[in-house]
Amino acid sequence: MIKNRLLQFCSITCLALVLVSFFWSPVLHSKTSKVHTIIVDAGHGFKGSLSSPDGAQGSSSQEDVISYEVAKKVVAEIKKQMPEVNVVETRPTPYFVSLKDRAAIANNNKGDLFVSIHCNFAPKIRDVRQEGTRTETYYVYSGKGKKKKKIKKTRVVPVYKTYYHPNPAHGTETYVFAAHKTDVKEDVLLENGDVFQNEKDDSTINVNINDPIVKQQVALWTKMFFASSVKLGSIVEEEFVQTGRFSRGVKQRQKGIFVLQATAMPSILIELGFLSNREEEEFLLGEDGQQSMAESITRAIRRYKTLVEKGNSPPAAPNKK
Ligand SMILES: [Zn+2]
Repeated sequence: MIKNRLLQFCSITCLALVLVSFFWSPVLHSKTSKVHTIIVDAGHGFKGSLSSPDGAQGSSSQEDVISYEVAKKVVAEIKKQMPEVNVVETRPTPYFVSLKDRAAIANNNKGDLFVSIHCNFAPKIRDVRQEGTRTETYYVYSGKGKKKKKIKKTRVVPVYKTYYHPNPAHGTETYVFAAHKTDVKEDVLLENGDVFQNEKDDSTINVNINDPIVKQQVALWTKMFFASSVKLGSIVEEEFVQTGRFSRGVKQRQKGIFVLQATAMPSILIELGFLSNREEEEFLLGEDGQQSMAESITRAIRRYKTLVEKGNSPPAAPNKK
């Protein structure tokens, strides 16, 4: 009985899929994806005052500066290693750009990949310890009216001291968009309606966003972008490990990260290391460290591009050219 129902369900689903793909075949872009445009996003930025920096601050470093330096090196490496690719910077100067503008730059330029570069920070660990005791004096009152008396008393109370220890957190990590919060990503995909452009004559087809088939298609693209983002993130972390860095892996944030949710393409956010860790801070401040990170990121993008273009991986993005 269950088997029969399952079979029935499967055949209906298969039929539906065939119909959907038939219906959409002239509308959707080709699935032979190419990575034409890479968006490089240097995290944070200078907001006009050194006293209130945007992003994390190490003992002698600022996240916006390191992110900017590494992003510039990534751009230079991509241009050198993949001259056929179009590179777009969301923050081409040291100055701050809003998150909304970054997403708009990425979407308007029809990016096939969004790579955001940041640095991590872990606050010092607060440690409260009891260190001995002290005698405290206090007063109680007894009696009423004229007979009221103030009595001096003492008690022994513990003495606490607060210590702050350096946080041992270290290593690289890459974030992908929150898969359980795909509504924003889906909205962005719909807004960037070129997903529904006719690839043959480049004309735009009016799409009813409430159409269940459209909704289904958008959900499918969102899923594909998620798989592609995780794939790229894993390759990035692999490349870091190859150069001796410690990797904390590919992660999602519960609340989601705006630029990752708001870009209509596979998107990752790379944390280069912890500015709260003296050793990593020095590595990331140095020219060699920055160059090494930029080369690892570029190698990863290149590997991913090759995979996608060979069709061995989930499509990077709808073919927009
Ligand atoms: Zn950051």
